[in-house]
Amino acid sequence: MTQLIQHYIGGRVTESASGRKQDVFNPATGEVSAQVALASVEEVNAAVSAAQAAAPAWADTAPLKRGRILSKFKELIEQHHDDLAAAITREHGKVFSDAKGEVTRGLEVVEFACGIPQLMKTQFTDNIGGGIDNWQLRQPLGVTAGITPFNFPFMVPMWMAPVAIATGNTFILKPSERDPSPSLLIADLLKRAGLPDGVFNVVQGDKVAVDALLQHPQVNAVSFVGSTPIAEYIYTEGAKRKGPYPLRVQALGGAKNHLVVMPDANLEQAVDALIGAAYGSAGERCMAISVAVAVGGVADKLVEALIPRVKALKVKNGMEADAEMGPVVTAQHKAKIEGYIEDGVQSGARLLVDGRGLKVPGHDNGFFLGGTLFDHVTPEMKIYKEEIFGPVLCVVRVPDFASAVQLINAHEFGNGVSLFTSDGNTAREFSRRIEVGMVGINVPIPVPMAWHSFGGWKRSLFGDTHAYGEEGIRFYTRYKSVMQRWPDSIVKGAEFTMPVAK
Ligand code: NAD
Repeated sequence: MTQLIQHYIGGRVTESASGRKQDVFNPATGEVSAQVALASVEEVNAAVSAAQAAAPAWADTAPLKRGRILSKFKELIEQHHDDLAAAITREHGKVFSDAKGEVTRGLEVVEFACGIPQLMKTQFTDNIGGGIDNWQLRQPLGVTAGITPFNFPFMVPMWMAPVAIATGNTFILKPSERDPSPSLLIADLLKRAGLPDGVFNVVQGDKVAVDALLQHPQVNAVSFVGSTPIAEYIYTEGAKRKGPYPLRVQALGGAKNHLVVMPDANLEQAVDALIGAAYGSAGERCMAISVAVAVGGVADKLVEALIPRVKALKVKNGMEADAEMGPVVTAQHKAKIEGYIEDGVQSGARLLVDGRGLKVPGHDNGFFLGGTLFDHVTPEMKIYKEEIFGPVLCVVRVPDFASAVQLINAHEFGNGVSLFTSDGNTAREFSRRIEVGMVGINVPIPVPMAWHSFGGWKRSLFGDTHAYGEEGIRFYTRYKSVMQRWPDSIVKGAEFTMPVAK
């Protein structure tokens, strides 16, 4: 019988009563590996009630104690690193070594959150006005929720949950219905680490669950990561929510990331970077490079070097030791990417390597696509404008550095960008002028480490704060200022003027 992946509410796996469910596939074989329950509004409400019941005691738990539970959680993740990675590969398709990398990057946010007593420290001014001291508190929000995409089923929940929990909130995760299993592994490890029941919950589901979370008056913050249309929807719907507090929303969206190759760049390094960043994880990364911007005379040499490398990619079942690229996530997603490739051909881009029709021996029904390379792509083409989210790299040729900056700044997305150069001044100018949230100089995928914060600009992020790092601490806490003085310093009599320091 096919396994049904359930919710996790109030510290236990909870059988879904909604009757709604959906198939989960193994993308390498095309087989249905399990089914996932799709929550009803009532089930979401039950998760919110559990999270609300657990919130006061958890908020009052000393940050040191919260940090110690996360420290134990970190140890357990290390012990189960391979199990988590295997669950990711089984449902997402990415190669096992890449899945292990995903676990490590998620683990690092847990590591960051373990230092919560230090992170919760605020500022204090002694004697700011006659006998008055002023300081601030950062207090938890209460019940918070995270809605996550399919492409990082462990790492993206880790961008949210450890920070939310460390700061004293309770949390409900609504993972992607395409690869839901890691969410329950996370829940199990947190429980074994000593997290009280109700502090971390999982509701499996689709739009019904997302809308119920967005509309619930007791949910105080929603962190979303996914495509731009849904991010915008979450942000605008969130603003309409009625409740004691406005809903705090952080919605990270899609991307089209460029890598600029300057004529003075080390070409070999730039080609290695492009191959890894465009085709790693079959291009299903929000920080994948999908456009190579060839500046000046570098284009012909670049394309010549790329072609054999794209053709030589080892596209296989992600569990095979030498696999460089696995399948894409679903048959529908594969068809969508193929549609983009056809569109590129029709619009006049030069297709140098065509990944369609790739056969992987023994995996006839897997959702495989080979690496695809286009040259002479121009800004009006759909394959340039839209996020393809597959193993497709577009080369755009520009005459000089200024045109490269202008091209990138005109794009609707501003998630990540990279520049390959050996000139310090070019690098400095680029970092300052480019309208993108995360910049790499000779670094192809500049995903900030856990102690910094992650987020794009323009239509790649809706909201004011970036994820994790110090911005994450701010997102999950409410600022309160306290002024205090004691009777000895209070001057007798009522004051009718605006109080000023004396
Ligand atoms: P998606 O937008 O389809 O789904 C994301 C989440 O939204 C899922 O949990 C899904 O169940 C839910 N959802 C889907 N349709 C919905 C609807 N109509 N109403 C309410 N909720 C809905 O994204 P995806 O395909 O899972 O992930 C890939 C996308 O995520 C890409 O666009 C990628 O760039 C983006 N992404 C962005 C970042 C970032 O940090 N900016 C990181 C990872 C992925």
